[in-house]
Amino acid sequence: MLWPRLARSLTRRPETEPAPLPPDEMVEALAERLEAASRRRLGRSLAIRQVDSGSCNGCLLEIHALSNVLHDLERFGLRLVASPRHADVLLVTGPMTRNMAEAAERALACTPDPKWVIACGDCASDGGVFKGSYAIEGGVGAVLPVDLVIPGCPPSPAQLLEGLLTLMEAQAE
Ligand code: SF4
Repeated sequence: MLWPRLARSLTRRPETEPAPLPPDEMVEALAERLEAASRRRLGRSLAIRQVDSGSCNGCLLEIHALSNVLHDLERFGLRLVASPRHADVLLVTGPMTRNMAEAAERALACTPDPKWVIACGDCASDGGVFKGSYAIEGGVGAVLPVDLVIPGCPPSPAQLLEGLLTLMEAQAE
């Protein structure tokens, strides 16, 4: 019956999880510093191309959280771009699978200088939970020249920002 259900839904709280809290001040401060460091090094904001070389998607979700409605870090200039041709940083997630090795090399070749490669997450570092599998070459470093490793399974948005900031501040000096 419609009416009892309607009455119930008007009197009860929705059966969903409460909305997450907005990001803390630390995340926002990191994003602001990253924007400043990127402007010093590149003269503009940082463009990031995410490359999935075989991840479980856990790291990807955290990267995407940077630009969701909660964090909304595009307001600080941080941009995820659709092509390596528009990117400064290749942010690679997952172990380097044999099937993705050539595609990853091509993505790097397409990225204009100056460019950096970040291995994002424990799998990208050394294969992580997939270590020893016949299907992988190893970590991202087995195929691409890695400039920075951000550990974690998966790394949080704050850890991702810290990693990007470390890279930009080191390059800006
Ligand atoms: S580090 Fe963890 S979350 Fe990231 S791809 Fe590997 S298993 Fe998934």
